[in-house]
Amino acid sequence: MNGVERLDGGPRSAVVVGAGVVGLSTAWFLQERGVEVTVVDRTGVAAGASWGNAGWIAPGLAIPLNEPAVLRYGLKSVFDPAAPLHLPLTADPGLWSFLARFAAHCRWSSWTRVAKANLPLNEESVEAYDVLTANGVDVPTVAAPITAVFTSAGQARGLLGELERLAAAGQPVVHTRLSTADLREQVPQASSALTAGVRIDGQRFVDPGAFVRALGRAVVARGATIRTLETVDVRADRTGVTVLTRDGSAVRADAAVIATGAWLPRLAARAGVRTPVRAGRGYSFTVPVREPVTAPIYLPEVRVACTPYRGGLRVAGTMEFRDPDAPLDEARVDAIIASVRPLLDGVRWEDRTDVWVGPRPVTPDGRALIGATRLPGVHVAGGHGMWGLAQGPVTGRLLAEQVTTGKQPDALREFDPLR
Ligand SMILES: Cc1cc2nc3c(=O)[nH]c(=O)nc-3n(C[C@H](O)[C@H](O)[C@H](O)COP(=O)(O)OP(=O)(O)OC[C@H]3O[C@@H](n4cnc5c(N)ncnc54)[C@H](O)[C@@H]3O)c2cc1C
Repeated sequence: MNGVERLDGGPRSAVVVGAGVVGLSTAWFLQERGVEVTVVDRTGVAAGASWGNAGWIAPGLAIPLNEPAVLRYGLKSVFDPAAPLHLPLTADPGLWSFLARFAAHCRWSSWTRVAKANLPLNEESVEAYDVLTANGVDVPTVAAPITAVFTSAGQARGLLGELERLAAAGQPVVHTRLSTADLREQVPQASSALTAGVRIDGQRFVDPGAFVRALGRAVVARGATIRTLETVDVRADRTGVTVLTRDGSAVRADAAVIATGAWLPRLAARAGVRTPVRAGRGYSFTVPVREPVTAPIYLPEVRVACTPYRGGLRVAGTMEFRDPDAPLDEARVDAIIASVRPLLDGVRWEDRTDVWVGPRPVTPDGRALIGATRLPGVHVAGGHGMWGLAQGPVTGRLLAEQVTTGKQPDALREFDPLR
């Protein structure tokens, strides 16, 4: 137990639903507090958003999504099928009510509230990774700057403004403006179309699928069982919690954590969680590169993130509000390539592999849902949107504290799922 606090009378066993970075991190930190854990996932480890994401552990860029410009941008996107933000013109009333709530939060006051709420998560996100990698999770994180590149100095103003606002909210981010010459040195792949850059220091990246699988192995090595089962309901009574599965079986424990990413509302709504979560689906793929890439490249004008990945480059982008289980749409991949091709040289776009789509779990107010529900012993952890990989381990650590002590850590107050 490594000397961490665990109350007598606290849960001795827990079942975690969802084997993504959030669920497995919670499982690991619950084990640290002496809790016996069972993990259930309908598909297996890293089956959701946690596999093909950009792999940035980048607290310095964990900028809230709900800035006012997103509204203007979103409206334009409705009429442009190639836009990085994709809002399908469907008749899904749930989606339109979600988007209306999201739009209501696209104000600087809401943005600042999210930035402040995220401070404790961002402050400890890297350190929480270090705890895992120092204690048996055998995939390292890599320290590297992230370089944002732009077609003009004017285009960089938006990001610089957001970094200033983050600093005003309490999170100073070390960054440097780059001249065209510095930019070419930092990012040899930058095409002649790119003339300005901003280097954000002190960030990390990781191979996310490999990391989450290593986390799964570590959780099993510490005594957990990971079972492939689809959960259909989570119930609670005076004797504990019951996770009911599609095959008719039941998993019993003293406590439960629902960490099902973009699928969260299906189980959490019955536990009294009214804030919806929608899938903001992103795409990624890997391409071979002429010169090795050593650090992430950010292309804010086309909303694409690029990360060194297994000798090539993982390219990730798009925010598509659709059912999390809808099939991959090749047209979205083509749109990403068309937008990035003029900006990066030495990339063999036609030889792409690992084409993937995954659902970011997005909430309308920009804050994750972490904590206890109305059902005794039942907790939720999810809704981290663009930054769930970075914030997964610290979320797991804070939630494990709440599950075992019954007390809400101050850092989780703004993420109360019953808000
Ligand atoms: C293109 C893209 C790029 C991204 N880049 C970054 C980045 O660079 N940095 C960053 O911090 N974040 C990034 N993100 C966001 C990040 O990937 C997510 O926020 C994070 O992975 C969410 O983790 P999770 O564990 O909550 O959900 P998931 O990883 O989606 O896991 C949920 C799990 O629940 C399981 N499940 C669902 N329903 C059930 C059920 N009924 N019963 C049992 N199991 C169930 C699923 O099978 C899945 O395994 C990116 C996302 C995308 C799409």
